[in-house]
Amino acid sequence: MSILVTSYINGEWVKVKDDGFRIPFINPATEETLGHVQEADHNEVHQAVLAAQQTFARGDWSKNIELRKKALFQLATLVRKNQDLLAQKEVACTGIPISQVLSRHIPRAAQNFEFFAEFISQSSSPVFEQNPHYLTFVRHEPVGVAGLIAPWNAPLALASMKIAGAIAFGNSCVFKPSEFTPLSFTILLELTREAGIPHGVINMVNGRGAVTGNAIVSHPLIRSLCFTGGTATGKEISAIAGQTLKKAVYELGGKSANIICADADLDRALDGALLSIFSNNGQQCLAGSRILLEDSIYEDFTNRFIKRVSQLRIGDPLLPTTELGPIFSKEQFNKVSNYISIAKEAKDITILYGGESASGFKKGFYIQPTIISTHNTAHILCQEEIFGPFVALLRFSNIDEAISIANQSEFGLVCYIWSSQIKRIMQVLSQVQAGVIWVNTPLTRELRAPFGGYKNSGVGRDGGVWSRALFTEEKTITIPTTDFPMIKLGSITNE
Ligand code: NDP
Repeated sequence: MSILVTSYINGEWVKVKDDGFRIPFINPATEETLGHVQEADHNEVHQAVLAAQQTFARGDWSKNIELRKKALFQLATLVRKNQDLLAQKEVACTGIPISQVLSRHIPRAAQNFEFFAEFISQSSSPVFEQNPHYLTFVRHEPVGVAGLIAPWNAPLALASMKIAGAIAFGNSCVFKPSEFTPLSFTILLELTREAGIPHGVINMVNGRGAVTGNAIVSHPLIRSLCFTGGTATGKEISAIAGQTLKKAVYELGGKSANIICADADLDRALDGALLSIFSNNGQQCLAGSRILLEDSIYEDFTNRFIKRVSQLRIGDPLLPTTELGPIFSKEQFNKVSNYISIAKEAKDITILYGGESASGFKKGFYIQPTIISTHNTAHILCQEEIFGPFVALLRFSNIDEAISIANQSEFGLVCYIWSSQIKRIMQVLSQVQAGVIWVNTPLTRELRAPFGGYKNSGVGRDGGVWSRALFTEEKTITIPTTDFPMIKLGSITNE
């Protein structure tokens, strides 16, 4: 029997409608239709927002920090306990290799819930005592209802960061995953009940961005919006969200530079470069998709990189040995293929490896990992986010040139630098325009620190106090500590 996923509002799955608009979701490894989601229209999103608002107003969650801590810790435990089931659902919808889902995505989802439970247990707000006549302090109050919109490339890991942040501070939320990745959320939502999170705190709606997403973004009762997705979508929805003056964080695309200097530990740099572009099937905002190599190591490093890429185990994402699974969808496959065609036709691009569909698969959106090289750093293949296992190798002769190439981008999410010279590292970290600099390490997310991008990679940050800034209103309270002298208007009589 085919699965039909409906919205989850106030602790219940919405009834199946005979005339509801349905969207199929597909296993990218087998091309099998796994099921459908029933789209939530504006009215259904409104119902979800009202349920969230009423739950918030009731106060059993929003005013009970002990319950929030306990439930979030419990949810983290349940996520770990159910990791295999969650991972299977996630892999079925996304095609990401199960070893990576089990080692990165599921632990990250559990950590997100745990992190915010710890954060609300430990955090405090500023108190100002410098003025002799007043005591001033700040309260962080939940905004009420948060709207959360997540993409398909790391469904649980990304959505759980938003959900955990929003509800830990006392809010209720309405969240929309990609309509193509609902399955792991059907399990997660059941786990939230088991963890003791009251009905109406977390509400899920499914559907297309232009319909369901739009209804979230434009809803006046939603006061905070956390969006992760493409830059074009982010620009579009920020204009709509601005109409109701929501607080908002936008985490958008990237085309990150991975600078590898001759003085680096090149074995580690090689491992790191492979991970940062080919994990998650190359479909991650923080992909190191432009590898910048210093002249003196260019030939040797390139040869070693190609050899390792040729050994990547492409295949069924459910096999524990698979390192590269299929592209997420036919549409995304066509997009990556189109970039490969551009590479084949361009005079100033050399394809060093790949450039074809992966052979040996009767079904599934499999593509070879592809490596290009070029001197034309302005080429669209070095500028546009391809979001697939596709990497450009570029070369530089000194660190100033590397920094200039790294900054030659509309994006500014991450920059990787591999070097053993502190002077070079300091130059990169002070001059590269990116929200995150990873020095001699790939993909290391510190949840206490801000995460987000410069330029077209986003606006705002999440993590620790930055998530609190998004999901709470700050209220400044001033109390006099003395009977200070006050101007007495109207006290002088004319008699
Ligand atoms: P999209 O921008 O297409 O979609 C993201 C989400 O927004 C989806 O749920 C989508 O729904 C929804 N959406 C689309 N249009 C609208 C709209 N008009 N109003 C409201 N919601 C809308 O991105 P992808 O899903 O393709 O994800 C890939 C992108 O995400 C890449 O660019 C990647 O770099 C970025 N990303 C950024 C990260 C970061 O932290 N900076 C992390 C991970 C990914 P629908 O599915 O119907 O389109």
